[in-house]
Amino acid sequence: MNDSALFEPFPHYVDARKVFSQKGKFAGELSNEKFNRLQALLVEGYFSVSAELTFSIGDRGRKMIEGAVEAQVSVACQRCLKPLELTLADDIRLALVQDEEAAAKLDGEIEPWIEAEYRLDPANIVEEQLLLAMPLAAYHDQNECQIELPSSNADEAVSAERDQNPFAILKELKK
Ligand SMILES: [Zn+2]
Repeated sequence: MNDSALFEPFPHYVDARKVFSQKGKFAGELSNEKFNRLQALLVEGYFSVSAELTFSIGDRGRKMIEGAVEAQVSVACQRCLKPLELTLADDIRLALVQDEEAAAKLDGEIEPWIEAEYRLDPANIVEEQLLLAMPLAAYHDQNECQIELPSSNADEAVSAERDQNPFAILKELKK
């Protein structure tokens, strides 16, 4: 049997008392509802998250969580503020530990996942990795940026903004 055939779709939770010894393997797309913190960093619209996670017992009985995450997202370009599509991708190599003390004992290349509860939400792990993979600032290629030049269009832009946003009117009134 092909190894990839053993991957199951992601459950809402896995039980840390069993999933490592049972070598749980999960792959596929995760529900967007689980990614509130990621979504807060994105511009509105479509995004998708998929991942592949393997749970196993590693060296010295370590509870290892390994795999990869990938997401298609739209963020605001920091030059023109228009949407910019990004692919976030990262590898995961974590060891489940119960506290900071155990985390400090891990080898350099293994990151700790600190969780005292036995209920683990795979989406939490995936989201954390995606947040780490987010660039601090993202930009279109220079020639693709849609910078609005300060011109006679500026007045139009203000009135358009006013139509969309009642707070913009307040701002205008305060001037
Ligand atoms: Zn741009």
